[in-house]
Amino acid sequence: MKDIEAWVRPNIKALKPYSSARDEFKGEASVYLDANENSFGSPLEDAYHRYPDPLQKTLKEKISGIKGVPPQNIFLGNGSDEAIDLLFRIFCEPGIDEVIICPPTYGMYEVSANINNVGIGSVPLLPSFDLDVEKILESFTPNTRLLFICSPNNPTANSFHPDDVELLIQKFNGIVVIDEAYINYSRQKSAIRWLTEYDNLVVLQTFSKAWGLAALRLGMAFASEVIISYFNKVKPPYNINIATQELALQALDNIAWVNEHIRQTVILREQLIQQLQQLPFAQKVYPSDANFILVKVTDASGIYHFLVSKGIIVRDRSKVQLCEGCLRITIGTPEENDALINTLKSYTA
Ligand SMILES: *Cc1c(COP(=O)(O)O)cnc(C)c1O
Repeated sequence: MKDIEAWVRPNIKALKPYSSARDEFKGEASVYLDANENSFGSPLEDAYHRYPDPLQKTLKEKISGIKGVPPQNIFLGNGSDEAIDLLFRIFCEPGIDEVIICPPTYGMYEVSANINNVGIGSVPLLPSFDLDVEKILESFTPNTRLLFICSPNNPTANSFHPDDVELLIQKFNGIVVIDEAYINYSRQKSAIRWLTEYDNLVVLQTFSKAWGLAALRLGMAFASEVIISYFNKVKPPYNINIATQELALQALDNIAWVNEHIRQTVILREQLIQQLQQLPFAQKVYPSDANFILVKVTDASGIYHFLVSKGIIVRDRSKVQLCEGCLRITIGTPEENDALINTLKSYTA
């Protein structure tokens, strides 16, 4: 067990959190005059005039049943991005502490670090897109508080070796954040299985990808109770609105839809990889553990703009370190993938 408390910023440790009306009275009553809500209701048909449950108890219980993680080990955020920002605010003293990221990877880790004025130690992936475990271990300083590992990684689409990841969790005197936004599409098991063993582990998942609810902004963090208690202390009191809580509950009742579309996406992904490989300008199609494909082409910018002119938008990642000349393509519906491939077949440099 590691001394998590020792890495918490002193002002956060000392913080007296905001106490909301819903925190101070938790029972059932017939007249609520404690929160300055509109007692007459709202102009909408549905009743949105009451503040939502600050700790989203019902929703967490349902997620708990599906993920096999107790509710007290779950934090829900306004997207994973809120969880990422809170990790900086809990653990990183601006101007003093540091984090390690492994580019090419998700851009928000760096942006969040910059917003919070926290230094970044950058340890690029190996050309094979594997973690450079040795360099990461060498880069730890006494002020390194967070290590971000995105697996499956965006934009490279691969998952990292579980042995590499577990070793880093064991060796690092700080918080290891494993971002599993794409875990549902992966051949690998979730790092959730390590939560009972390591209290310095935070696993991020999201409703934005396989759950198809990017518009709702709902992210999950799974971690030890100490870490979750600090998330709850620092978060805005009503960070998940009631419409999101209700719609997420409905979605969780239809897990069959989610599983069926994960299955289809994986089949379509392997088809699309085959089809992309046959294009004359495709130099390398990388294997994918996610719902997108990274492909190295002869003329990324030309192909990107050609696709735009035909109404098809992909992501140009050609300026990104280790992804030179690469496009990132999300798996579409069968019709969308056909349109993409047919359009690409008509491309001439
Ligand atoms: C899409 C994505 C997310 C999702 O972020 P939300 O704020 O939950 O929508 C998180 N991490 C990575 C690596 C992603 O690609």
